[in-house]
Amino acid sequence: MNSTSRQFGGDGGGLDPQDWRSFRKQAHEALDDAIDFLEHSAAGPVWRPVPEEVKHKLNEPLPQEGQEFASVYRQFSENILPYSSGNTHPRFWGWVQGSGTPVGMIAELMSAAMNSNCGGRDHGALYVERQVIEWCKQMMGFPPEAGGLLVSGTSMANLIALTVARNESAGPDVRVAGLQGARKLTAYASSEVHESVVKALEILGLGREAIRRIAVDGDFRIDLKALEQQIAADRAAGFHPFAVIGSAGTVNTGAIDDLDGIRRIAQEERLWFHVDGAFAALGMLTDEIRPLLQGLDRADSIGFDFHKWMHVPYEAGCVLIRNGEQHRRAFTTRPTYLQGLDRGLAGGGAWPCDFGPELSRGFKALKVWFTLKAFGTNRLGRSIGENFRQARYLAGLICSNSELELLCQPQLNIVCFRFRHPEPAAADALNRDIVADLQETGIAAPSTCTLGGKLAIRVAITNHRSRDEDFQVLLSAVLERGRARCASAAV
Ligand SMILES: *Cc1c(COP(=O)(O)O)cnc(C)c1O
Repeated sequence: MNSTSRQFGGDGGGLDPQDWRSFRKQAHEALDDAIDFLEHSAAGPVWRPVPEEVKHKLNEPLPQEGQEFASVYRQFSENILPYSSGNTHPRFWGWVQGSGTPVGMIAELMSAAMNSNCGGRDHGALYVERQVIEWCKQMMGFPPEAGGLLVSGTSMANLIALTVARNESAGPDVRVAGLQGARKLTAYASSEVHESVVKALEILGLGREAIRRIAVDGDFRIDLKALEQQIAADRAAGFHPFAVIGSAGTVNTGAIDDLDGIRRIAQEERLWFHVDGAFAALGMLTDEIRPLLQGLDRADSIGFDFHKWMHVPYEAGCVLIRNGEQHRRAFTTRPTYLQGLDRGLAGGGAWPCDFGPELSRGFKALKVWFTLKAFGTNRLGRSIGENFRQARYLAGLICSNSELELLCQPQLNIVCFRFRHPEPAAADALNRDIVADLQETGIAAPSTCTLGGKLAIRVAITNHRSRDEDFQVLLSAVLERGRARCASAAV
């Protein structure tokens, strides 16, 4: 007998511990490590690169024989745990990422214990998921008859929503005939639209050229006049416009399109109106942002994430489709082995697998349920509102410093700025280096984007751990790195 067969199950098979007491002790220690990790999330660098020797250790042959659990766990705590991306740290502001919570962590643990398969059938997890979806409809102002599904994230939400939109518009039943002979469908979004929308059109067989990227105004919001003109031009050229995608929170600047204006055009033109609300849709929970989202509650569909501004551990997002029957008929198919019955475990009404491409699905709903119940929408909304305020605080600090240039007024929670360089042509490289310096020294983790041809240091504040002092630390470090790099270049 090797060591693992002594530790787990014995030679008779089975993978459970032989000695539950000793496993329990190890498990409690692991839980302590997890709680320590979150309790001390502000300690240490935001990020540290994975050292070469650790990469080397993580490159191993396929394990044929098992090792002691304690040894596997030790390898994890030495070689993996210290090298997180840093998005639990108060000075992580890269891309748009949530910070996680201890509450969500426990929910993940419990859902793993239950090992629920949420594709369908009649069990507790599905009632939780249905409850969470009902709550989402209420948060977004959607009607009770809307359809909804928890998904991995807004990329999947966008794909599912645009699948329904395509199926409703392509003409003859596209589920049967495919796109053979279908109309030449076109969709519309601003030039700032997230790439996941473009990818969705590729996957749907419409191709990336099918998306018309409409110009934006000075605040990076879709130009409604240009949108109307493009739709008219496409109709004249024999295309069949089918959907318009509004962005509630663009990834570069957090701009929110005029959703009500888009809705009006969509209604007149009989287009599907989808909102990519990945992070900003949850602004519905806060008074500062809700007015900017006017029209969201009248969209045909919406995608948004819990793992961004609600800090549910990765991964969890949601898609809502106003017309639940359209949602169902885009995906439902029940071969005999998935037949629902009116009683027993195969009962329980609509199954999640009827509303998306996945059959086996984890119990994502539990961490959302825990989060909503433990904090409540008021508290979650206040946390979002705090980030909204911090963006204005940071922008104020930037504006009062002549060495820094604010590249756009923050509309939501994203601040784009840069260190001024005496030669504008050199500013892009300088600021790219500053961001990499901040990340490599572990002081802070903003990311970069390009606005109007200028490389920006981009600070996206979806972080419930950030305090005002953290932004002061950021700016001191930017100034220090900027000056040092300019001085050494001048030598
Ligand atoms: C993050 C994001 C997405 C993609 O969402 P995932 O959860 O990463 O799949 C789509 N749109 C916007 C605006 C985003 O910020």
